[in-house]
Amino acid sequence: MFSASLEYAQSLDQTDVLFSFRERFLIPQHNDSDALYFCGNSLGLQPKSVSYLMQAELNDWAKYGVEGHFQARNPWFSYHKLFTERLAKLVGAKTNEVVAANTLTVNLHLLMLSFYRPKGNRYKILMEAGAFPSDQYAMETQVRMYGYDPNDAIIELSPKEGCHTLDEEDIMTAIEAAGDSLALVMMGGVNYYTGQLFNMEQITKAAHRVGAYAGFDLAHAVGNVLLSLHDWSVDFACWCSYKYLNSGPGGVGGIYVHEHHAANPSVFRLGGWWGNDEQSRFKMEKGFLPKPTAESWQMSNAPVFNMVAHHASLDIFDKAGMEALKEKSQLLTGYLLYLLDQINNLPFEVITPRNPSQRGCQVSLLFKDRGRETFEALSAQGVIADWREPNVIRVAPVPLYNTFEDVYRFYEILRGI
Ligand SMILES: *Cc1c(COP(=O)(O)O)cnc(C)c1O
Repeated sequence: MFSASLEYAQSLDQTDVLFSFRERFLIPQHNDSDALYFCGNSLGLQPKSVSYLMQAELNDWAKYGVEGHFQARNPWFSYHKLFTERLAKLVGAKTNEVVAANTLTVNLHLLMLSFYRPKGNRYKILMEAGAFPSDQYAMETQVRMYGYDPNDAIIELSPKEGCHTLDEEDIMTAIEAAGDSLALVMMGGVNYYTGQLFNMEQITKAAHRVGAYAGFDLAHAVGNVLLSLHDWSVDFACWCSYKYLNSGPGGVGGIYVHEHHAANPSVFRLGGWWGNDEQSRFKMEKGFLPKPTAESWQMSNAPVFNMVAHHASLDIFDKAGMEALKEKSQLLTGYLLYLLDQINNLPFEVITPRNPSQRGCQVSLLFKDRGRETFEALSAQGVIADWREPNVIRVAPVPLYNTFEDVYRFYEILRGI
């Protein structure tokens, strides 16, 4: 149904209902024109509104000093609550189940302190082999903290011989096999390297069947794929906001905890003043009284400057809507896959699953050789993609700001190389 021509790509842009959203972002330049930016999976682009929204907070700080906590137009005292509803919608949760706070790896540790409580025979964690380094370090040090040997306590799932992605059946089988030795299944929602989207609902059900918790690192899933964390009964999740969520380098992280855990005072959480019940927070009395919501994992007061871009970006997501974004995403990435198939004698293999229910927008190209040279040649011609050792180029056409023309131009440059 697709066609490999510039006119065709432009015709898809003309009928794209989300086309105008590109206008809301600052696109990096290459030789005085827009670069082909396919790195929204690594660092999302800056919404144009950020600079004046940031200036507004600076002005309020100058004008009010400490009074800004209550007097600023967006009072800092409760700044994070400005977008709780949007965040909840984005991950398919209730408003009492999410909070924007801390950063991803920190949240991973905080949540594991609540949900990885090894006891007796039940102490193992199941995760994907070759997970993002930060997640590997987090799991390793968590099990060490309780005196376990990571080689014993961490079960790593690898793809079958000759495959690049995990078989869903193999995940189910591994969970069942681990049985009551399993304390926690902790996986990415979308694998950062292959772009494989996991069936979080099935994995959660399987974990619960053996009495384990299921948690997900959604760094590559949030803002990329549809999520229904509450309905899937996911126990907890965390994510960062600077990838698909365009909230700036090192932007604030996000936390989801299912309400039946958040409201349960016997679920342990480390205390901080912002996680404490608001009525008693300033009474200076002894005794941490966690809020019965995900906000009890928040700890510190809101990093307002760090949240300005998050606020702006979630506003854009709300206007565009995840359903519409997902629809465009499937067409846009589908077009990219179609174009790649038009190139003869490909020097690479697409390792991302083709099935749209098993991926988001990212496509990973595994090179047999000359991957690095190809990547550098792409960069020289204004393509901003991403290189992952040992030999993968990741390309993420993001439906909020990438066009079908971008994808077509990428194909032409790649074919030329
Ligand atoms: C991007 C990413 C991180 C980064 O962690 P920070 O704490 O935000 O630096 C961690 N895990 C995964 C899976 C990621 O994709």
